[in-house]
Amino acid sequence: MTAISFEFFPPKTDEQREQLHAAAQRLKSRSPEYVSVTFGAGGSTLSYTGETVKQLRERHALSVAPHLSCMGGTRAEIAQLLDGYRQHGCRRIVALRGDLPSGMATPGDFRYAAELVRFIREHSGDYFHIEVAAYPETHPQAEDALIDLKHFKAKVEAGANGAITQYFFNPDAYFRFVDDVRKLGVDVPIVPGIMPISNFTQLKRFSDGCGAEIPRWIAKRMQAHGDDTESVRDLGAEVVAQLCRRLLEGGAPGLHFYTLNRAKATEAVLSRLDL
Ligand code: FAD
Repeated sequence: MTAISFEFFPPKTDEQREQLHAAAQRLKSRSPEYVSVTFGAGGSTLSYTGETVKQLRERHALSVAPHLSCMGGTRAEIAQLLDGYRQHGCRRIVALRGDLPSGMATPGDFRYAAELVRFIREHSGDYFHIEVAAYPETHPQAEDALIDLKHFKAKVEAGANGAITQYFFNPDAYFRFVDDVRKLGVDVPIVPGIMPISNFTQLKRFSDGCGAEIPRWIAKRMQAHGDDTESVRDLGAEVVAQLCRRLLEGGAPGLHFYTLNRAKATEAVLSRLDL
């Protein structure tokens, strides 16, 4: 069976909290292996991540993996979070560098995610299953694509058990990335991150920020649908389902959905797949 997982972000308002719980309620019927909760760099959502993890475990009985980004954090703060997640029964962590919020001058005790992974192993031994981030289209700040692959390998050597990719729409980028890191001796599972499409303007903004390429043909088709959201959703679901099919046929070990705390677009993709 294909392992699926869902990513949520910590809600900040009552309305967002309702939305998260409604999405979790619907998506848990898809039997995810786990769900993950993102972490805002610089401590802005520190408490919200922990609280959201607790809520998803207690209200929905889900297995939850907190994201932990080290940028701006100290060793003592990270150790405290790890101990707290352990007390809450979490067995999986998504370990990231994060990005330095504008105006924040100090990167804290860690410079790169590999250092965080090493620290988690030093502090918690093998207790946590650690996922790290992977970039089939190269991390936007990387010096070059080959050096980026080596930096990815360093995270696995530091103790990561698996990776989740940044989202992408070109399956060849994923297959090439996996082939390249296998040649470097990396053998952990690399799960593609999947971004369901529901709002093209928002998707374009995200993609510009994180360096994910939207193929021209998809952008053109989406733009042609204008504000006709129902048809954008249908087209988006079909395009993303086709991507998932190709990834699974090509050997991807699972699918990790960026849900943006909404169930509909993710369900539209899942209902088109024969999992
Ligand atoms: P790293 O692996 O440390 O890499 C960052 C950059 O540094 C790369 O360009 C790499 O090539 C370079 N690098 C690495 N090591 C070295 C070295 N030794 N010397 C020189 N250069 C080096 N962000 C959040 O803030 N919160 C989240 O919850 C979150 N969740 C995410 C989940 C997933 C699945 C993904 C793919 C990304 C997520 N992000 C999140 C975004 C992520 O934090 C950013 O992309 C960030 O810029 C890089 O994080 P990283 O862990 O990949 O960093």
